[in-house]
Amino acid sequence: MKLTIHHLYADMMNLYGDRGNVISIRKRCEWRGIPVDVVDVGLGERVRPTGCDLFLFGGGQDREQALLADDLSGSKGADIRAFVEDGGTVLGVCGGYQLMGHFYETPEGERLPGVGIFDLHTEPRKPDEARLIGNVLVDVPAPEDDEERQVVGFENHGGRTYLDDCEPLGRVVAGFGNNGTDGTEGARRLNAYGTYLHGSLLPKNPWLTDQLILNVLRRRDASFELEPLDDAAEHHAFESMSGRLAGRR
Ligand code: GLN
Repeated sequence: MKLTIHHLYADMMNLYGDRGNVISIRKRCEWRGIPVDVVDVGLGERVRPTGCDLFLFGGGQDREQALLADDLSGSKGADIRAFVEDGGTVLGVCGGYQLMGHFYETPEGERLPGVGIFDLHTEPRKPDEARLIGNVLVDVPAPEDDEERQVVGFENHGGRTYLDDCEPLGRVVAGFGNNGTDGTEGARRLNAYGTYLHGSLLPKNPWLTDQLILNVLRRRDASFELEPLDDAAEHHAFESMSGRLAGRR
């Protein structure tokens, strides 16, 4: 039951250490004896899902996003969209998240086409608006286990994302989220997750890492369960930030 991570544009979209999401998934699988392959998918390279896959799409500056938008606009984007429609798991962070919607409009007015996984779009900040920067705490419904959970991370984006007909990943407790006004953060549809949270996101939010892994492996075996791990360090890292953000410290 090998898990294959397709790391989209690994060398271009790795802002604020988003590569840590790859490391977190790999380690939490290997600590449980689940082998992992990581396949970097760069410009001009097609995606070839093998059945037990997960796609990661990190953050990047407008320049990198413009360079890869064309690459995504053809069959590659269609393959990733079809993968999601078939129940495949994708995590997009910030710039990668923005390109999972219909378009990302840069401050220069250039509309970069997205893959259309999420029914959302991203507009540029107005000249008198600041970038949305800071630590973020989000309440996240986790329907898989009928829980209300939380994630913590760091955001730095100029773009303002608006959900057209799409569920958010969660609601902002502290920070800005999608656009700093409607209280939403990220997006979620089927097993596709989008978020503005860098950090990287997954090491401090082990429940989400395990949920992504379960989504993938349960496509092969619906009864699959993950052995629990000692998450004391991860929980300490989470609490050190969430407590501060929720005003508990
Ligand atoms: N370039 C995009 C923006 O500024 C995304 C930035 C990022 O990935 N941190 O909104």
